[in-house]
Amino acid sequence: MENIEKHVGFILSECNKGGQITLTADLMKELARLKGGDIIGIAPVDRFEMAPQGFHPEDILADARSVIVIGKYFPLGVLLGRSKAAMTNAIETVFSALDRCAYELSCDIEKTGERAVPVPADRPYISWDIDRQHGCGDLSQKHAAVLAGLGSLGKNSLLLTPEFGNRVNLVSVVTTMALQGDPLLERDLCIQECNLCIRSCPAKAIRKGGKVVQKECRRYHSITTPRGFTHFACWECRKICPARGNLKC
Ligand code: SF4
Ligand code: SF4
Repeated sequence: MENIEKHVGFILSECNKGGQITLTADLMKELARLKGGDIIGIAPVDRFEMAPQGFHPEDILADARSVIVIGKYFPLGVLLGRSKAAMTNAIETVFSALDRCAYELSCDIEKTGERAVPVPADRPYISWDIDRQHGCGDLSQKHAAVLAGLGSLGKNSLLLTPEFGNRVNLVSVVTTMALQGDPLLERDLCIQECNLCIRSCPAKAIRKGGKVVQKECRRYHSITTPRGFTHFACWECRKICPARGNLKC
């Protein structure tokens, strides 16, 4: 790890001196790991042809050529435990760490003369349908993760990864760098005969085909405490999933 850090540090210092250095996909992943990412995948922009209008990487950066997707896991205890405060704090900590990781990675990319945009891991986002109480980020992080080979989507519409199951949050960097893409995951990690997430949802918000009706989910998903804090209150669809991944952490 120390050698990688030195190597990357050397490359970036050369960039700072005006040297013509190209960061490879492998180096970008090591950099993202050094900045706190646990799983990293790369999707060339031509894989996003199905992205809805307004939510394509080129809607974020006109000359975008690659999307670097970074995932960070959170402890299983947070998911299985009973403290909503601990769960809320852990998730906010993960989002904040991911945003910092993407921000710093974008700054390093720009030292090479390329352009980069860190897409927020969670908030803020602009797209909001008030009647449907439906919000969307500028880029769907979970679909970007699938296109970067990090996992597959479960029936609850959450990303499932081979390493951590659905216990992972995501951030992306859209960049003009042309980076080699990772192979798509060929396996479907969602268990075919399983319907636990659909059955456990107290709001009955998960429809067949992996669509979650946000308006229905929002009635259970968060609460405001008497003190005025907003807490995550329901994660049954995450908690109950038996596809937990293969890493102990
Ligand atoms: S967070 Fe809760 S309410 Fe929302 S879809 Fe999952 S189980 Fe249903
Ligand atoms: S709970 Fe079952 S159906 Fe739902 S995502 Fe997990 S494996 Fe798939």
